[in-house]
Amino acid sequence: MNKDCIFCSIAAGSLGTEFVYEDDLCVAFRDINPKAKTHVLIVPKDHIDSVFELEAGTRTLTGHLVYVSKLVAEKLDLKGFQLQINVGEEGGQEIFHLHLHLLSKF
Ligand code: 5GP
Ligand code: ZN
Repeated sequence: MNKDCIFCSIAAGSLGTEFVYEDDLCVAFRDINPKAKTHVLIVPKDHIDSVFELEAGTRTLTGHLVYVSKLVAEKLDLKGFQLQINVGEEGGQEIFHLHLHLLSKF
C-alpha cells in the first residue's frame, strides 16, 4: 500500500467506492470520468506503478487481471469490450498504479 496513491486507497476500501467486482487480488470499479458508456477500471490490490514494473513474479497477477475482465463483462452482460492499458507518461498514464481499462459502447 502506497499511502499517497489514490488507487491504493480505493482498493483498500478507504474511500467507499462501489466495486463492480472484488477478490483477494484485485478490485473493479467504474471510472469517475467515463470515456465510454461502460468504463470500468480493474486494479490490483498490491501497488505496482505500471507495466514497466512487471516481472516474473507478477505474471500470475497480470493474467488474473485479464481473466477478471471476462468476469466483469459477464456480470455487466457485455457481449464485447475493449481492454486498454496506458503505460508511462508518454503512453497517457495518469495514475501510476497499474490498471486495465474495460471499455464498451454498450
Ligand atoms: P490512466 O490515464 O492512468 O490510464 O487512467 C486513469 C483513469 O482513472 C482515468 O480514466 C480517470 O478518469 C480515472 N480516475 C482518476 N481518479 C479516479 C478516482 O478517484 N476514482 C475513479 N473511479 N476513477 C478515477
Ligand atoms: Zn497504489
